[in-house]
Amino acid sequence: HNQIDHATVARVTDAIAAGDIHAEIPDYQGLEAYRSGGGYEVLTRLRQDGDWEDVQAQVLGSGLRGLGGAGFPSGRKWGFVRAHPGPRYLAVNGDEGEPGTFKDRHYLEREPHVFLEGALIAAWAVEAVHIFVYMRDEYPAVRVILSREIKALEDAGLVDKGFIELRRGAGAYICGEESAMIESIEGKRGEPRHRPPFVAEVGVFGRPTLVHNVETLYWVAQVMKDGSELLNSVEKNGRKGLRSYSVSGRVNSPGVYLLPAGSTIVDVIDAAGGMEDGHTFKAYQPGGPSSGLLPATMDDIPLDFDTLQPHGSFIGSAAVVVLSDHDSARDAALNMLKFFEDESCGQCTPCRVGCEKAVKLMQAERWDQGLLEELCEAMADASICGLGQAAPNPIRLTMKHFGDEV
Ligand code: SF4
Repeated sequence: HNQIDHATVARVTDAIAAGDIHAEIPDYQGLEAYRSGGGYEVLTRLRQDGDWEDVQAQVLGSGLRGLGGAGFPSGRKWGFVRAHPGPRYLAVNGDEGEPGTFKDRHYLEREPHVFLEGALIAAWAVEAVHIFVYMRDEYPAVRVILSREIKALEDAGLVDKGFIELRRGAGAYICGEESAMIESIEGKRGEPRHRPPFVAEVGVFGRPTLVHNVETLYWVAQVMKDGSELLNSVEKNGRKGLRSYSVSGRVNSPGVYLLPAGSTIVDVIDAAGGMEDGHTFKAYQPGGPSSGLLPATMDDIPLDFDTLQPHGSFIGSAAVVVLSDHDSARDAALNMLKFFEDESCGQCTPCRVGCEKAVKLMQAERWDQGLLEELCEAMADASICGLGQAAPNPIRLTMKHFGDEV
């Protein structure tokens, strides 16, 4: 990503949006097809005589949790935002910058209206006066699709003109952190804010703001259409619900797989067509680089919220990367820390300096494990946001499980 020339990306995406360049737009479900299958009926019914608390109860009953990485019960945020006087906003996080994550893109390139109806239901629930959709600019096709379909909604009279505003990210990973995203929407540097106050009270332009990830809103629409059972009736290994795993690495068929939330890495690799020929499963990143690396011997853990924490990891956005005996865990961990070094916003010292020091220490022939652990402690304890707090995970897990490599 160091080699991305952002000015060029911006020029190309502008040209695509203007129709000067033909973007590869995948076949997707347009407004007419979505409506012919009952799309927007729920929204229309709710707008006529819906009770937001009934909607909240249905979403909470489904067990849906935020799918951007934090896993907060989705409906609960609505009450926090409504507790503060309007005007209120909805800000949709479509930045999807976590390496290995591409599930939001998967849904937006296939069923954009499911997401859009979910966003409109959530906006209705908190009486938002405006929706900001903060979209990763490296997805030019998604930008074209959303621009078109938002306009189609306006033309059909389903939303007021300008109610949904598409905003472009500029390639900064930290802008996927909700308060940094809000700063960016306001036109400032994307730097995470101190909390409290929380964004539910002081969000975009100081107003109460509901922040949801794209996929969360996709499931809000599905649950409101098909009922809470859609998610809460699926059970595996004692876990309930479904999870969209973005799978890449040494598997035969990388892609997004919708599986029970209690799936293990063995199930995920099976779904992705098994290991590539000539490769033996060695390690995996369960949920983005912040989740570090686990060894193949730990292959029976359900990859869900809460189940990985006792092992020093977490599921995050469910970006699974599979490593084989051809890969070095040490190199993978170093790569993760280089990414954090590059993407640290730089406003707090433990993260800005800590990531840089960690990279230097990890480039040594033998890691100074005592010093690295001290550094990890300072970073985890004293960083402002999740980037610096979780950056030690790949270091600690590699020292613990791949000691012979470091
Ligand atoms: Fe910025 Fe890192 Fe501090 Fe987060 S932890 S605010 S990314 S410097």
